[in-house]
Parts: sequence; structure tokens; C-alpha cells
Amino acid sequence: MSTAWAGGTDAIVERMDEMTALFIAEQRKSLYQGESASPCEECGEPIPEARRRAIACQYCLACQTKLEQHR
Ligand SMILES: [Zn+2]
Repeated sequence: MSTAWAGGTDAIVERMDEMTALFIAEQRKSLYQGESASPCEECGEPIPEARRRAIACQYCLACQTKLEQHR
């Protein structure tokens, strides 16, 4: 019983890794599509259009976090 369950868990983990890899690939693709992304004011990293629209920010997530911590 427990071995069957362990096998099942491994299969799920494998599937998750696959999904994560696909997700990251998609993110990269949209991040470097260019036109819709504008560079971060702090470090020049491209900011995806979706992020800029959602919170109207000119910083990437890393710089935004840093700036908020300094406040
Ligand atoms: Zn930045």
C-alpha cells in the first residue's frame, strides 16, 4: 500500500516539474517578446506589460521589493 502511494507521489512530482518547466518557458517567452515590455527604471530588466498595467509600476519585482524595504 505504502509503496504504491510512494510511486504515485513520484509520478505527481515528475509531472509538476514538467509543468513548472513549461510555465517558466512561457514566462521567458512573454518577457522577451520586446514591444510590450518596457525596461525597469532601476536595473533595465524588461517589465511584462501585464505587470505594468496591473499596478502601473516602472520597476521590476526585484527592484520594487528592494525599494519598499528601504521605506
Ligand atoms: Zn529592476
